[in-house]
Amino acid sequence: MDCIFCKIVNGELPSQKVYEDEFAVAFRDINPIAPVHVLTIPKKHISSLLDIGTEDKELIGHLHQVIQNVARITGVDKTGFRVITNIGEHGQQSVHHLHYHVIGGRQLEWKA
Ligand code: AMP
Repeated sequence: MDCIFCKIVNGELPSQKVYEDEFAVAFRDINPIAPVHVLTIPKKHISSLLDIGTEDKELIGHLHQVIQNVARITGVDKTGFRVITNIGEHGQQSVHHLHYHVIGGRQLEWKA
């Protein structure tokens, strides 16, 4: 499958990993919009939030715990941060492998 995040998972593409376990990996976004901008992804290829199945319930719960770890590792657990997953065209999803942006390290604003 020609998916850049699958290639990061299997080591074909380099990444700046901040966390990895059996089911998930978190790495720094190549084009960060804030001092902390980490992508947390499942190792399993799931195209977007819309493609999460009932069989993935445990995995999605785990990803939330990975996000907690990422927040602690990067220090934004103390200052606050934002978690975003973009979906489809209007959501401006550019990589079709489920990922959660963990963004912080500066005061964020809210605008869509
Ligand atoms: P989205 O637009 O929500 O699909 O987010 C995809 C994100 O992946 C963007 O913020 C890109 O900067 C980021 N990205 C694309 N390729 C890479 C890569 N090779 N390593 C790290 N981040 C990447």
